[in-house]
Amino acid sequence: MAVSCTVASRTSIKADAVIVFTVEDDKAFKSTRRSLISDLPLLQPMLDAGDMTGKKLSVATGYVGTAARAPRFILVGLGSAAEVTAETLRRASATGVNRAAALGCTQVAIELPSVKGLSAEDVAHALTEGAVLSQYSFTKYKTINKNNKLVGKFTLITDEASLAKARKGAKAAEQVAAGVIVARDLANAPNNEIYPQTLASAARALGRKYGFKVSVLDKKKITELKMGGLLGVNQGSVRPPVFIIMEHNGGPKGQKPIVLVGKGITFDTGGISIKPAAGMSDMKGDMHGAASVIGTLVAAANMGLKRNIIGLVPSTENMPSGSAMVPGDIISFMNGKTAEIDNTDAEGRLILADALCYADRYKPEAVIDLATLTGACLVALGHVTTGMMGTDDATMRRLEKAGQRTFERVCELPLYEEYEELINSDVADIKNSGGRWAGTITAGLFLKHFVTYPWVHLDIAGTSNPPKGGPYVPKGHSGVGVRLLINAIQNW
Ligand code: MN
Ligand code: ZN
Repeated sequence: MAVSCTVASRTSIKADAVIVFTVEDDKAFKSTRRSLISDLPLLQPMLDAGDMTGKKLSVATGYVGTAARAPRFILVGLGSAAEVTAETLRRASATGVNRAAALGCTQVAIELPSVKGLSAEDVAHALTEGAVLSQYSFTKYKTINKNNKLVGKFTLITDEASLAKARKGAKAAEQVAAGVIVARDLANAPNNEIYPQTLASAARALGRKYGFKVSVLDKKKITELKMGGLLGVNQGSVRPPVFIIMEHNGGPKGQKPIVLVGKGITFDTGGISIKPAAGMSDMKGDMHGAASVIGTLVAAANMGLKRNIIGLVPSTENMPSGSAMVPGDIISFMNGKTAEIDNTDAEGRLILADALCYADRYKPEAVIDLATLTGACLVALGHVTTGMMGTDDATMRRLEKAGQRTFERVCELPLYEEYEELINSDVADIKNSGGRWAGTITAGLFLKHFVTYPWVHLDIAGTSNPPKGGPYVPKGHSGVGVRLLINAIQNW
């Protein structure tokens, strides 16, 4: 996909469609209407008929004859001017571009609106994110009925005064979007494409392409490190586990790194505590946390973020077999703590536990883990909000703010000690499942046993796979986390 910014008029720009935004407020709407009719007289009947009033995310297409070099104009409403935010712009941009794609357009021009409270850089950033991310599709395996008609070229139209800022915003947005797209591709890929070894080789290839360091620990090394959680979950699988380490050294030498940890279960059958068949195919995305961490490293390297960032991904399948872990088994982790396996489907916390132990060696500024961890998080927060827990108040507030800015919102759940008794075990230090009540919190409390530094846990079980998607989140795995983390790190 290509995004550029240019100084041009709506009538002189060459494209398959020009997207123009309008607010609904009387005075402003009338002025947009007047200027549209004066430039493009053929739009008058459509506007007279009331097909576009500026209502939020409404969309209307008009054909303009010889008045402009582009044959059609797509008008998109922004709603009330006082309420326009970056998120309004992302959605409005995506809505216009999706309409253009449906009409078979492959190149569109987008007029930069001026929005009170947002700089041209912010506006260009939001419009670019909405446009680029809306045109993502995972169709590489389709050989028939493949819908190739997607918009691949975007030109933002601006004026001389805003050009430099618009360019800066559009470029940064494109760099972040590249990371989101990597995360979506990895999470959408089936387990016969992405399993631990191929996840590691994908990380290696991305490291070479974008310029971050990647090393991979194999089963021998994982065994030497006594990562009993990762090995225990892996026991039922014919494919060995991997532990992927990624480094973006953008900050000064000696700067404490931010460590990101992603759950990399490339397929979760539930193991011996096997899941029901219906919907199990979604479990190819049980490595979305890993995908988000890899995508974040891609974006950070792509943008040249001036921070030291480490990405850690423990990865295995969770399979049932004659050699699989069974309920009642007791395993021990890298830090020597032990856990009773109550339910082999509560496997994510077992592999994360070892990764969190490993993170200690970096003496991190903070550790943030991302995991499709609990169904209980869906019950609590649905597909809209990521569950957040942790020991590091400052980082949780950072993530809350970044969540508001990027609209990848997070909500804190408490790690009160009263919940701890739910994971008490009679035979080991803790057990891996606390039962039905407060299932997201008991998973968080389990992880807390393995942290020795400021820490935040993000449960993305719901936000990783919103069933209907959204204007700039096509159906499938969402790539959630990349934009959130990059924004938080930029504003650290
Ligand atoms: Mn599971
Ligand atoms: Zn899982």
